[in-house]
Amino acid sequence: MKPEYVEITCKSAVNRVYGMPYLKWSLNPYGGCVHRCRFCFAVQYRVVADQGTQQDFGTRLFIKTNFVEVLARELRRPGLQGERITVGTATDPYQPVEGHYKLTRGSLELLREHANPIALLTKSPMIVRDGDLLAEIARIASAEVFFSITTVDLDLWHTLEPGTANPYKRLEVMRALRRQGVTAGVMMAPILPGITDSEASIERVAAAARDFEAATLSMAPLRLAPHVKEFYLGFIGDEYPDLLPRYQRAYPGSYAPPDYREKLHERVERIRARYGFGGPPERRQRPPKEPAIPRRGPQLALPL
Ligand code: SF4
Repeated sequence: MKPEYVEITCKSAVNRVYGMPYLKWSLNPYGGCVHRCRFCFAVQYRVVADQGTQQDFGTRLFIKTNFVEVLARELRRPGLQGERITVGTATDPYQPVEGHYKLTRGSLELLREHANPIALLTKSPMIVRDGDLLAEIARIASAEVFFSITTVDLDLWHTLEPGTANPYKRLEVMRALRRQGVTAGVMMAPILPGITDSEASIERVAAAARDFEAATLSMAPLRLAPHVKEFYLGFIGDEYPDLLPRYQRAYPGSYAPPDYREKLHERVERIRARYGFGGPPERRQRPPKEPAIPRRGPQLALPL
């Protein structure tokens, strides 16, 4: 099904992010995402902004046509000078329409002009087009690119992320950026309980990251924010009905149980060390306290 493209204008380009120590400023030239990952956190932004529902997620993309002009104004402010800005926190900045609108490229050109350090998250090989710019930003400030890779199992990839490029294409582009001097790595986020959290599944991603010369390997457990939970559990009910009751018990709120997160963290750290990504432990954020929600029946451990 062809997505609907909606041109809009924006009042601001750079957003202040609160409560995340490693992420202070973000920018997103697009709203929504046609990659349609079945676990996508961006669902909540669309539903809260009244721009769609869980059911039609991925069918409508908002294009902020004046984004580059607004960003140009904002980057002249003293408060943003030298600040690290993360591109693509609420949606993928390299969706197919970027080939036409070039809003992400325009943003990177401005960030280069102002010598802002950047981080960028994507699942798209289209980023290779901007390798020259990223390499220049890496030289004058710093550029970290995180390639989001959930799995390298090609059957599973298609089920989980139906609109994305083959993960090996992403890995090839990651290697090309590395060779241009960009700090590019793999981010396995989110790790999906009972689907991609096994030792073997994580290990395959780690081995691919090493083979394709990733500078970093990071991972994060699944978080099911409001709206995302209904969206994701609908998918689990359709594709993995046996797992559904376990998810319902384990996720009364947004976060997986603490003992699960702890065990997963230990597993990830072991694998990272085994594949040469040791060193400082992964940045972990303590989830905020959630209100106690009574659990029905005994809590089952997720498969670990
Ligand atoms: S690429 Fe990222 S933003 Fe787009 S659907 Fe997938 S998880 Fe969501």
